[in-house]
Amino acid sequence: MTREARRYVLAAAVVAALGTVWCVAYLTVGAGTEAIAYAFAPLGGVFATAAVHRLLGAGGLPPVARRFWRTMLAAVVLISFGYAWFAADILVHYREASTRSMPLAAAACAAIGFLIAIWAMIRVPVVPAQGVEWWRMLLDRAIGFLGCAVVLWYAGLAPMIDAADPWSPQAMVLTGLGLLVAVGAATKVSYVAGGPVDRDAIRLMAAAGGVTAAIVTVIAVRLGPAGSVPAQAIVMPLTPLLATLAVLAQVRADLGLRRAPGRGGVVLPYLAVAAADVPLVAVALGAPLSWPSRVVLLAAVLVTVLVTLRQYLAFRENVRLLHSTRVQEERLQYEVSHDGLTGLANRALFRDRLAAALAAAEPAHVLLVDLDDFKTVNDLLGHGVGDELLVSVARLLRAEAGPHGLPVRVGGDEFAVLLTGAEPEALAARLLAALDQPLSGHRLLVQASIGIAAAGPGATVDSVLRDADVAMYTAKQRGKAGFVRYVDGMGEPVLAHMQLGGELRRALDHDEFRVVYQPILRLEDRRVVGVEALVRWQHPTRGTIGPAEFIPAAERTGLIVPLGRFVLRETCRQAARWRAEFGPGALLDAGLNVSARQLHDPDFVADVTAALADTGLPCEHLVLEVTESAVLRGQQVSRTLHELDRLGVRLALDDFGTGESSLSLLRAFPAAIVKLDKSFVDGIEIDDGQPAAADARQAVARAVIQLARALGLDTVAEGVESAEQVVALRELGYTLGQGYHLAEPLTADGMSRLLARQQPAAGDQSTPARALSGID
Ligand code: C2E
Ligand code: CA
Ligand code: CA
Repeated sequence: MTREARRYVLAAAVVAALGTVWCVAYLTVGAGTEAIAYAFAPLGGVFATAAVHRLLGAGGLPPVARRFWRTMLAAVVLISFGYAWFAADILVHYREASTRSMPLAAAACAAIGFLIAIWAMIRVPVVPAQGVEWWRMLLDRAIGFLGCAVVLWYAGLAPMIDAADPWSPQAMVLTGLGLLVAVGAATKVSYVAGGPVDRDAIRLMAAAGGVTAAIVTVIAVRLGPAGSVPAQAIVMPLTPLLATLAVLAQVRADLGLRRAPGRGGVVLPYLAVAAADVPLVAVALGAPLSWPSRVVLLAAVLVTVLVTLRQYLAFRENVRLLHSTRVQEERLQYEVSHDGLTGLANRALFRDRLAAALAAAEPAHVLLVDLDDFKTVNDLLGHGVGDELLVSVARLLRAEAGPHGLPVRVGGDEFAVLLTGAEPEALAARLLAALDQPLSGHRLLVQASIGIAAAGPGATVDSVLRDADVAMYTAKQRGKAGFVRYVDGMGEPVLAHMQLGGELRRALDHDEFRVVYQPILRLEDRRVVGVEALVRWQHPTRGTIGPAEFIPAAERTGLIVPLGRFVLRETCRQAARWRAEFGPGALLDAGLNVSARQLHDPDFVADVTAALADTGLPCEHLVLEVTESAVLRGQQVSRTLHELDRLGVRLALDDFGTGESSLSLLRAFPAAIVKLDKSFVDGIEIDDGQPAAADARQAVARAVIQLARALGLDTVAEGVESAEQVVALRELGYTLGQGYHLAEPLTADGMSRLLARQQPAAGDQSTPARALSGID
């Protein structure tokens, strides 16, 4: 359609060019008759009519624009017809070409065309406005209309009326109407904010009516009616040319090739006032006014200029203020929707966007990314480093999320990505892979657990976030540094786990925890030399629950700290009591398990000191069992362990041999005792020379005892379940053991009875060797 519209413009331009050529030829060579001058306008009119007709035929116009152009078609047809009639009439009476005026019927035809054009302009809708705004717009337009009209009247119609050579009323009416189209459209166009009828199209239509009429009057007034005839050949075809250009503008606007311009209406009244001042100045300077009257007029003009200026400055100031408020508003908007540290979107914005995605029913996924063990980093290296790490993770998220992902800091060490379209698993895998590289200057390795949930039909913001939470939780339980997509039913075990946290709190308050003691015996004579305290939960409805079921939950919720404190106090109290009751030689070592989480607790050393002081248990009889993974938790844990060692408390490495760096660890860690893990004791007795597995176990057990001897450490073999194992262990050099075969965990009373039984017979006061110091 654009190409076609251009063709009409070209045709109309050719007509105008031909008119110009003819005019020059006529004025220089005097070729042909003057009457030909009138033929060009209707010829152009044919092309303008065809262009508008074609525009309507092509379809696709919005209804308002369609109505406008349909009305315009009628106007163009009538005006073209009127002028064609006039041209025909002149050509027939070509001798009177310079004096003959337009036939009344033809003039009426064209006049109706102009009125229809005005009507079309009036009906173009303007920007909707209400109340004061509506009145302001009306006033602005009235001012604009009057300003323009005064100028055109002064420069155009007034000279025609005043001319020495009389003008035909037809010519004057038509010129006036043409000017009216121009003025009306000009005062309207500023308020048509990119509406269905294109602004530039309106401008060009206005020009088609106005420019031509204005030029005609100027030429006519300068040359007189007779002299102006040949000039018609140049000027008159401009109208159809501008009309075809207007069609082209409308076509291009519909194709979206141009954007609607912004404001413009605001300057119109100022221009109008200035325009009205021009003729006023001309009148003031012209004769025959007395000079005092001129002063009055000029002063009035000056006042309008100053008022205009003042208004304009106020307007500029308003615009500036408005802009700065908008900037401020935007900044505020940014601050409430973004995280201060990382600059990522925050929880509020995240929820908004998720809600929007759900409302639009577009496929979306939420990835909940929780850093593993971030608290440790924060504790060990300080909050500064923790913050740096979060910023690095944020940067990574931003880089990986891509154009379809919104990276979010949900809070603390929890991040999220709202992903539309793309594959969530692929992104999760990319994130985990990227986290495999050390982050930030501290060369820290952080890992994350990722939960994925789909924002499917019927879901709500809360349900999606809950699903993602459950999936993330499951990922953590499956061993961290992984991702899990939510599936139905996944929530129940997780929920049970979460409930467990709450129940633990209650159990702690209701004293539902008990401590049982498993004896540690000398393999040689099965004499009890120590105990390991093991916690039990005496559940009111579920009976006795083992630590494997609730220690992980207690660790995660932090309840392990008060729970561990209870076990510590209970064990110290009990051990001190046994020592008082059965003599200091009866029980040498009281051991208990300590979680990594407890070693992070800044009050832990103080708790131990207090427990020893309050119960009177000598520090060298307390054994704290820690696992290798707990020991490897960085500097603060290491500091705590050394402090405990200095205190005189003995440290045991629990589950020894299962970790990756067991042997090298022994040198850096102030251990006094090594507890050989049950997995190396299992099958240690099988000795048919064949199974390689048993050999390997024996090799570890042998290596451990040799290393322990070299370093001067005590050893305890764990999980001893048979007499054969005792034999095998003794052969390897182990002196102490713990296990169901030797003794099961006992209640405090059961333990008391056992100790009573092995009391040396009265009179036998041989001090038992310090049993746990199996080697000398
Ligand atoms: P652990 O420190 O390795 O404790 C030894 C576990 O092995 C105990 O299980 C004990 O009952 C069991 N056991 C002893 N002899 C044998 C045997 O011959 N065969 C087999 N199969 N098992 C044997 P329990 O009491 O269920 O404790 C499990 C784990 O829970 C402990 O492993 C320890 O890591 C943890 N735990 C227990 N009490 C506490 C506590 O008070 N605080 C902390 N932080 N952890 C505790
Ligand atoms: Ca233990
Ligand atoms: Ca153990």
